[in-house]
Amino acid sequence: MIDLHTHTTASDGTDSPAELINKALSAGIKTLAITDHDSTSGWSEAIATLRTPMSLVLGAEISTLTVEGISVHILGLLFDGEDRDLQAMLSDSRDTRIPRMRKMIELLAADGIAITMEDVIAATPPGATVGRPHLADALVKNKVIASRDEAFVDLLHNASKYYVTHAAPTPEDAISQIKKAGGVAVIAHPFASRRGEIISAATFTTLVAAGLNGIEVNHRDHSQVEREQLTEIADQLHLVKTGSSDYHGNGKLNALGENLTDPAEWEHLESLANARRVVRK
Ligand code: AMP
Ligand code: ZN
Ligand code: FE
Ligand code: FE
Repeated sequence: MIDLHTHTTASDGTDSPAELINKALSAGIKTLAITDHDSTSGWSEAIATLRTPMSLVLGAEISTLTVEGISVHILGLLFDGEDRDLQAMLSDSRDTRIPRMRKMIELLAADGIAITMEDVIAATPPGATVGRPHLADALVKNKVIASRDEAFVDLLHNASKYYVTHAAPTPEDAISQIKKAGGVAVIAHPFASRRGEIISAATFTTLVAAGLNGIEVNHRDHSQVEREQLTEIADQLHLVKTGSSDYHGNGKLNALGENLTDPAEWEHLESLANARRVVRK
């Protein structure tokens, strides 16, 4: 079983990297990618916890914005974690999330909703990339709302009046930095329309020109029809097709291994990195 997209307490997941590895081992996952938002800070704990028979794929999920302002998530896998330009890009993204969070809090507080930056900081694990799920947790703690999911439905979704975007690289920039760092780039849940505006089928061609290697086809937020459309696009553009859980611990319903990547697709994707970086013990 191959699951190529998961989150930990290094971003907005609720399991530590060690807990994630242990749960994935119990679930029978043989190849697991750790892909926290805009961060590689969970990698070392994941490596330290890793045991046979699991293979670990180190990565990150990079938040990007197209020039039209559409939010696109790019999974970078198997890149050199020491690459300075890529780390600078991730660090810039993390930095801009802080004023963005302050703005969202100002908008909520101006409407009489009980929330402060201190509440959100208290709800964010030390060193984690701060995001809306931490704001949601703080709203739950303040009894404004019952759950992360309800917070997203009522207050924090992309079309909400409280939603503020943060500065981010374009998908093309993120893809080319991942590639320069020797890794492979996969577009995450491209047709997850529930989250907001999605890219057109034509946009994939531009991303391929920037170096895109794969499309996450099998994902909870894609319908059967959307999976079929993405399969067609991937086949036409000779892109690898992946599947993954986008596991967030108990922060989301997504169960480890609920969507998987075909071994032949993974073998192809792995061969496109500039070095053999899968971690085994
Ligand atoms: P941000 O990066 O701060 O814009 O927050 C986006 C994150 O919110 C993504 O990682 C999503 O997984 C998470 N998210 C989106 N919708 C929901 C939801 N309904 N429940 C829990 N988390 C969500
Ligand atoms: Zn997330
Ligand atoms: Fe995502
Ligand atoms: Fe994700």
